[in-house]
Amino acid sequence: MNILVINCGSSSLKYQLIDMDRKEVLAKGLAERIGIEGGRVKYEATGKDEIVIEEMLADHKAALKIVLDSLKHEEYGAVKSLDEIDAVGHRVVHGGEAFAESVIIDEKVMQAINDNVEIAPLHNPPNIIGIEACKEIMGDVPMVAVFDTAFHQSIPELNYIYALPYEYYENYKVRRYGFHGTSHQYITERAAEMLGKSLNEVNLITCHLGNGSSISAVKGGKCFDTSMGFTPLEGLAMGTRSGDLDPAIIPFIMDKEKLSTEEMSNVLNKKSGVLGVSGVSSDFRDLEEAAEKGNHRAQLALDIFENRVRKYIGAYLTEMDHCDGIIFTAGVGENSITTRERVVDGLKSLGVEIDKEKNNMRGKEAVVSTDASSIPVLVIPTNEELKIAMETAKLV
Ligand code: ADP
Repeated sequence: MNILVINCGSSSLKYQLIDMDRKEVLAKGLAERIGIEGGRVKYEATGKDEIVIEEMLADHKAALKIVLDSLKHEEYGAVKSLDEIDAVGHRVVHGGEAFAESVIIDEKVMQAINDNVEIAPLHNPPNIIGIEACKEIMGDVPMVAVFDTAFHQSIPELNYIYALPYEYYENYKVRRYGFHGTSHQYITERAAEMLGKSLNEVNLITCHLGNGSSISAVKGGKCFDTSMGFTPLEGLAMGTRSGDLDPAIIPFIMDKEKLSTEEMSNVLNKKSGVLGVSGVSSDFRDLEEAAEKGNHRAQLALDIFENRVRKYIGAYLTEMDHCDGIIFTAGVGENSITTRERVVDGLKSLGVEIDKEKNNMRGKEAVVSTDASSIPVLVIPTNEELKIAMETAKLV
């Protein structure tokens, strides 16, 4: 069975065609600058050279047409005809309270995704456009929606209700939703396999550390708490997002800097985090390099980031009676040897111990703690596309 996985942003469309029998990527790529000058589609069939098609992409439908033409291209294609694509799995950011699982897309599901636009105005509209473009071009091929929020729907009330007037939850659905759910779920399932535990018995702390970062407390294979909230702004300090702060700072700065709500939101989402503190970059490689050369603010940004990861791990340990593993994933979690080392070094008082030699690697599945460590520490590269394809295959 071949599954096409689609992840649509406002001006981009990422895709992978996955052969589920062999769990192999047949082709993958990215259409970018959709609707603006300089449109291009990158396409790479496994084992063949990357192709770049530069062309104005009027809309997502135009981009998808080029992707599908490339997939069945005589010379560099991955399939002979589009009939070899059995189903499409769409990443949808916000499922709200309506979806605790992936679903086959029908009219009712589309309506529910549309209903969530109010709480995800930046994310859900491009996801909807992507689904509609696929429907128009691919007709009756079954399609599945896989939600970033679904894994977190098991979080109990005590962790999803904010200490605000309760009516805001009732009237506006203001509550913790959590994001990166597909990634947290994927590494939870892999960790259970690697630790030899059954899924409904495993307790974990899963750390998805990338450009956007979040941590989850997983109890009995289900999410019990997560650091992102009503939006992906809460929790850890991130590449450009502030994460947790005193909410009183927001009206104070708006007043001082004469900012509108939109401008303030832009500061919190795009100009804060490790970029805001360091003034150097949102990219952890740049920060590590600058810190090594003695840049104080770059080092400070890394210190703040790592300390907050540690504090969340500490807090989440109090939410479970035992922990079977602390898992690192995503760009920083998989690749930054120093971040892992410094985070875990700060957990010594809990008996958690990193093995520097085992930790000296990037981007591979591994146990990186010592045998004596009170809790095993694992690195598991995330694979959201494969997880979306697995969910899709399961449903169709
Ligand atoms: P997202 O999917 O949220 O855009 P990723 O999970 O791809 O982000 O993570 C991107 C981050 O991973 C970047 O900040 C980048 O600096 C970091 N990263 C990638 N490779 C390394 C590395 N070798 N060392 C440190 N950080 C790295």
